[in-house]
Amino acid sequence: MLPEKMIKLGSQRSVIRELFEFGKKRAAQIGEENVFDFSIGNPSVPAPDCVNEEIIRLIRESDPVTLHGYTSAQGDAQVRETVAQSINRRHGVNFRADNLYMTVGAAAALSCALTGLTCPDDEFIVFAPYFPEYKVFIEAAGAKMVMIPADVEGFQIDFDALEAAITPHTKGVIVNSPNNPSGAVYSEETVIRLSEILRAKSQEYGEPIYLISDEPYREIVFSGVTVPYIPKYYDNTIVCYSWSKALSLPGERMGYVLVPDSVTDHETVYAAVAGAGRSLGYVNAPSLFQRVCAKCCDMTADISVYERNRDLLVKNLREYGYHVVEPGGTFYLFPRSLEPDAVAFSERAKKYNLLIVPGDGFGCPGHVRISFCVPTERVERALPYFKMLADEYK
Ligand code: PLP
Repeated sequence: MLPEKMIKLGSQRSVIRELFEFGKKRAAQIGEENVFDFSIGNPSVPAPDCVNEEIIRLIRESDPVTLHGYTSAQGDAQVRETVAQSINRRHGVNFRADNLYMTVGAAAALSCALTGLTCPDDEFIVFAPYFPEYKVFIEAAGAKMVMIPADVEGFQIDFDALEAAITPHTKGVIVNSPNNPSGAVYSEETVIRLSEILRAKSQEYGEPIYLISDEPYREIVFSGVTVPYIPKYYDNTIVCYSWSKALSLPGERMGYVLVPDSVTDHETVYAAVAGAGRSLGYVNAPSLFQRVCAKCCDMTADISVYERNRDLLVKNLREYGYHVVEPGGTFYLFPRSLEPDAVAFSERAKKYNLLIVPGDGFGCPGHVRISFCVPTERVERALPYFKMLADEYK
């Protein structure tokens, strides 16, 4: 006998992957340039030069045995010190190497944090629209996911629904700002109110409620937008960070968990996160890329193409009649679908070779996700098709 749940996870393709495969088939039939694949969130800009330069330098100048050897489980001490200093400089905080646990991307950071925190009967709250893998990670950790429906007007937080959802079983809340799939950035007002509620509820139940801040898109923000640094607002914040998007390195798998000293019993929480990493078999984050990310952690890939694409899409889609909340960051747009059933809408879009993802899988039906991490020229050529699609509903 084998576990049904794992078989299902391993054999069912996600809607995004289905679309991606469909796109490849269509491209073989009509040419790649005629397929407008907005399905996948793979960065479309190269890593900054610093990345390749540092890889070459490390290979030329380092002792190869150390370079490719195991590091400490929590990550190389010098790497963690360098990253801590970079965070301190940029956010005006005061972290140390020992607050950081290097991981295999944000996915592993989330898995380590969730597994390290979960006791029997624990629940984690997520806000729709949410990254679908949260459910997988939360359930793998042995906890239950509780979803708060989306605030579709601005993709901030429905605080009444949040207050009603918190119970003595609530171990934590996951936030993701800038958000996949809405692109929304939580305002300072939202973060303050969220912190107030979590503080009050923690006090009421006599147990900390952890705020897990999933931040792979922290650096992918557009002009004029600031992303509040959540540990400054709420003591029991645990940050799950990644260089996948910031440095365009999703395949290299680098991120970290940050457990600030302000977290209740922070040393125990850190030990539990490290214990989770051990029990999940991560051993240590990739050795070479720990060093590369430490060297380049003050830099960001050139994200100007994302901002250009965002501007083009928001302006034109609104003109065609789509309802769009302007993203403050990421490379996603999450307009309302033009019929209530987003799956049917996404199917209809395929007629124009527009591949867009229904919001249902993100817990937010009636919307579709457009991943605009593509060359601007592809967005420009797709615009007439978005118009034709909209015209069908007039
Ligand atoms: N969290 C969110 C919201 C994401 O969109 C992603 C990846 O797309 C991840 C976590 C996982 O990131 P990583 O590639 O660093 O594991």
